[in-house]
Amino acid sequence: MNILLLGSGGREHALAWKIAQSKQCDQLFIAPGNAGTSQYGVNADLSITDFEAIKQFVLEKNISLLVVGPEEPLVKGVTDFFKKDDQLKQQLVVIGPSQYGAQLEGSKAFAKKFMMRHGIPTAAYREFDESNYEEGIPYLQQHALPIVLKADGLAAGKGVLICQSHVEAIAEYELMLQHSKFGEAGKKVVIEAFLDGIELSVFALTDGKDYVLLPEAKDYKRIGMGDTGLNTGGMGAVSPVPFADAAFMKKVEEKVIKPTIRGLEKEAIDYKGFVFFGLIKVGDEPFVIEYNCRMGDPETEVVMPRLKTDLIELFIAADKGQLNNIKIEQDSRYACTVMAVSGGYPGSYEKGFVIEGLNSPLPADSLVFHAGTGQKDGKVVTSGGRVLTVTSYGSTVSSAVVKSREVLQYISFEGMYFRQDIGFEFE
Ligand code: ATP
Repeated sequence: MNILLLGSGGREHALAWKIAQSKQCDQLFIAPGNAGTSQYGVNADLSITDFEAIKQFVLEKNISLLVVGPEEPLVKGVTDFFKKDDQLKQQLVVIGPSQYGAQLEGSKAFAKKFMMRHGIPTAAYREFDESNYEEGIPYLQQHALPIVLKADGLAAGKGVLICQSHVEAIAEYELMLQHSKFGEAGKKVVIEAFLDGIELSVFALTDGKDYVLLPEAKDYKRIGMGDTGLNTGGMGAVSPVPFADAAFMKKVEEKVIKPTIRGLEKEAIDYKGFVFFGLIKVGDEPFVIEYNCRMGDPETEVVMPRLKTDLIELFIAADKGQLNNIKIEQDSRYACTVMAVSGGYPGSYEKGFVIEGLNSPLPADSLVFHAGTGQKDGKVVTSGGRVLTVTSYGSTVSSAVVKSREVLQYISFEGMYFRQDIGFEFE
């Protein structure tokens, strides 16, 4: 079959790598893709939110499977667009939830209410907007510290504030609701109790009724060593997660995964795609911090390398309602990824630097996934903050990380930076 994958990050390079291994894949197109995805398919110069242009492309290339990488097209309704299309609704399978289902990520208030309805463990919260703004002030004043403030909508990973004082929390609350700090996304605010624990990410592929669990992962969001400094899109990831033992994962499945999927089914939410459970382990108990309606980045760059099962077969099973027949096979080794970023990121940075060393032979158990890369004058150049990531397998977290760091010794571009300590707590 011909397949179109939407997106251009490291996640999409890892998905393209995995999809291209399937016997079911005839032609793979990636829109818009990056310099790395073109190793596994043909990049197509399309905007991921221009649904009409995507439709024309789907018709022209006889695409029968559309895989949506990032959240934006999902939250904007790409799945519904194709479901409603008379020409394409029979021919095209879309992997990604409906616009309504994508609110699990697109609206934090929606996700919290969903969790409450289905008894899914999450931090205590209340939501506020213009209509109950005044009530929020005394609520914040008496709230235990620290206080978590979340803009309801998508805010490019910046909409969550952890406030250490009541004064700060009230000031931020005012900025969001009265001075549009996060624009439309912050017109509603979720105020939530702070949970003290360790985070991990769990992924399921569901058809809205049944599901399969993919390998879990832990990502490293901060720019600096020892998880310090500014938040980023993600500087590295490891899978499996050493502290997520079988007993804990069983709890996750019983208390979080199953109630979530049952909730989707009970509410007849049209959801065929990935669910990303952002979890925090408090003591021995899992709590949901967030849902995402797509795979994570850079988690995908360790999850796909550990998934042995054919990904297209999983997508077809999801479409046919046959996920229950599938037993997921995982590589038992650790996979760790280390992200190389542009100098200055996550602040301002320059682009367009030539990336050297990409043609050097790679060790058998390492993979390079491109993120912000492009082609210029026949050379691969930087085109974003997160530039590329190196994933390696190993029998321990540290042996895998060391291999990735070694590969990064012979890749270079001006200003390149990567964290030396991914997986540090597991050494
Ligand atoms: P992402 O960029 O991962 O999509 P987001 O902007 O959608 O994030 P969340 O994942 O909800 O927001 O929160 C971002 C981070 O803030 C979390 O990864 C976690 O570290 C922290 N956080 C959020 N809620 C809580 C909480 N209730 N208690 C403690 N930390 C929290």
